[in-house]
Amino acid sequence: MFNLSHPKLVALAETEGYSQVEDFLEDYALDSVVPAICMAPDCDHTADLEPDQRAGFCEACGRPSMKLGLVIAGMI
Ligand SMILES: [Zn+2]
Repeated sequence: MFNLSHPKLVALAETEGYSQVEDFLEDYALDSVVPAICMAPDCDHTADLEPDQRAGFCEACGRPSMKLGLVIAGMI
């Protein structure tokens, strides 16, 4: 079951210029770099990560809380 309504996922899709989370996920599902967002409650930093990079350090807050949009959605 995919989770397409996670607030961080919606924010990430909007940051990338998508009004629909589904369109965002379709465009990036097979890409070599995938947008990720910081999962910290007080931070919405986004960056492009490689899909095999499950957790990345946030450049804004320094926590290992960057998560791929595809991971948030439960697709990978
Ligand atoms: Zn952060």
